[in-house]
Order: sequence, then C-alpha cells, then structure tokens
Amino acid sequence: MAVTSWKQWRDSLPKADPDKRITRFWSKVEKGPDCWIWKGGVRNQYGAFNLIGPLEYVHRIAYRITVGPIPKGLLVLHRCDTPLCVNPAHLFLGTQSDNLKDANVKGRAKPPDRTGSRGRRKLSDAQIIEMRQLEETGAISLAELGRLYGICKQSIWRFCKDSRFDGEYLGIPR
Ligand SMILES: [Zn+2]
Repeated sequence: MAVTSWKQWRDSLPKADPDKRITRFWSKVEKGPDCWIWKGGVRNQYGAFNLIGPLEYVHRIAYRITVGPIPKGLLVLHRCDTPLCVNPAHLFLGTQSDNLKDANVKGRAKPPDRTGSRGRRKLSDAQIIEMRQLEETGAISLAELGRLYGICKQSIWRFCKDSRFDGEYLGIPR
C-alpha cells in the first residue's frame, strides 16, 4: 500500500508495547538495598524517560506502574530526598504545600538565582521542569509560581505555556 500522508505513515509504525517499555524502564534502574537509583537520562538532577509518549519524571512513572494512577493535582514526593530514586517504598503523594514544607525541613528550598544579567535566564532547566510539573497539576496559580521562583507572572506564563520555549530551554515534547 502506498503511503500517501504523514498520518498514514505514522499509523503504519509499530505501536509501542507497554510491557516492553516497562521492562526497558526498569533496565535503567540500579536497585540498591535502600534507594533504587535511575541510571538513564537525567536533566540536571531529575531522571526523565518517555515510557509511552512524552518525556516524564521517572519517579512519577515508577509510582504509576507500581502503585497506581496519580490523582490530578498531586505530586509524587521522595521520603529519601534522593531525586533519582524510584523505589516505590520511598515515594508518596503530596500536595505542593507538603512539598514546600518538606523542602524547608530538609533544607532543599533555595532562594531563586537572581544573578543572571538582563535578558538572561534566571532559572535552571531543573527548576523549569519542576515549575512546569507544578503548573500542570493545576494545584498552584501562575502568580503563586511567580512568587515561588522569584520571577514575574509573564515569565512563568512563557516558561509554562509558550511552546516556542520548549526547544530553546528543554527540548522536551509536551
Ligand atoms: Zn530512595
């Protein structure tokens, strides 16, 4: 059959086999006696993998495939404070305010980097990924995100909503 459109071509490709993708996911994890450390792709301090579809945080994938769906508005947090850990026993669901309390307790919360010169980026890739993840939960407003990261609401909107920033900043398909 002649392929006459990109859609036909796309549909002719083999579909991703979920079981194979899950096997592939775990093949990139080194299971220690305590933490299970992600050895695959990392963007700054966070593991990222595309199970089926877009790139996602690996601790969220681990939670979904071992525990169950992540209710809308909730985050997957680490008891062990090891960002690359995907041991389901170390993961728990929480709200953004739980995350901030947890970060304060563990000293993870740092003031936003304001050293960038005018027009330069003030946030790291990891911060932008985190910010987008937070924004997508719908649990936090753009104004609150702005306060959290020390940048204006317009910048937050650009980072989170403007797809032109994907390639420049992250190259992460959404
Ligand atoms: Zn752990």
